[in-house]
Amino acid sequence: MRSRLVFVVVVLATTAFKPTTRPEKRNAILISWDGALRERVRANVGKGMMPNLARLMRQGALVDIDVTGHMTDTKPGHAQMLTGYDPNLTGVWSNTKFGPIPRGYSIFERLHDAFGKDGIATIMLTGKGANLGSQASDNGFPSEPFYLVRPGITVWDGDRIRSDPAIGDRALRYIDRFAKGRFFLFIHFPDVDVAGHTYGEGSSEYDRALVVADSCLGKIMAELKAQHIADSTLVYVSADHGFDQGTKRHSTATHIFLGTNDARVRTYGEQRDIAPTVLFEMGVDLSKITPRLPGKVLAK
Ligand SMILES: [Zn+2]
Repeated sequence: MRSRLVFVVVVLATTAFKPTTRPEKRNAILISWDGALRERVRANVGKGMMPNLARLMRQGALVDIDVTGHMTDTKPGHAQMLTGYDPNLTGVWSNTKFGPIPRGYSIFERLHDAFGKDGIATIMLTGKGANLGSQASDNGFPSEPFYLVRPGITVWDGDRIRSDPAIGDRALRYIDRFAKGRFFLFIHFPDVDVAGHTYGEGSSEYDRALVVADSCLGKIMAELKAQHIADSTLVYVSADHGFDQGTKRHSTATHIFLGTNDARVRTYGEQRDIAPTVLFEMGVDLSKITPRLPGKVLAK
């Protein structure tokens, strides 16, 4: 009887994030579900359609996040999510008004600055051909937002259109490859946005895309467990922008969310708070960062 009890405790300890893991020992995975509207996400979680996000939030939280200070587009959403800066510093205001994010501003580069090139691996994995791309300026168009960021990332895997399941499979391979060391992995899933533009927010196809994104999250969580790093890996799920309810566009789509196994996250926030929260929870001294990050740490 007694040994069975001990066994149960051990199993629980390895499947959930352990808050006592020192920040400088933690990995983090930041997931973006492109175009995921929080009202729909919450409704589908409530209906039991998204069991993996539900499990993640039971370990931590699901809080409302608002997009502020820029257009609700893919380019400025990801520029702000991955730097913590507003467009006046990133130069990324909308999908049509943008430039390359200045060198050194991204979460990837901040982590390398704090922990060294060999102290942590950083990976950026995306499923769109442009908007979170790294292509150089061409035909009078400016360079893509991540043109200057890309050289500072350990593994760049973007600039190509891929489906959510294909992105999910690649994510599992990166976790397998980097599980022995420390890593930060950003994963962009494009298909909720594609379903929204094609069939509309509120369509069965949009809901179906959320279910697929959620099942990819489940596989990622299972891989963390299989690699015995679930207790040391923070997982954050958010979006670049939401969707205008019942439409095929996202012109005023400020409603996003943050789902996480980080139980210290409790409060409502803004998109600019995501980067400082991730950096702080990974042990970066925010007081040393210049220019000063305008957002706040959501972990208390
Ligand atoms: Zn879109």
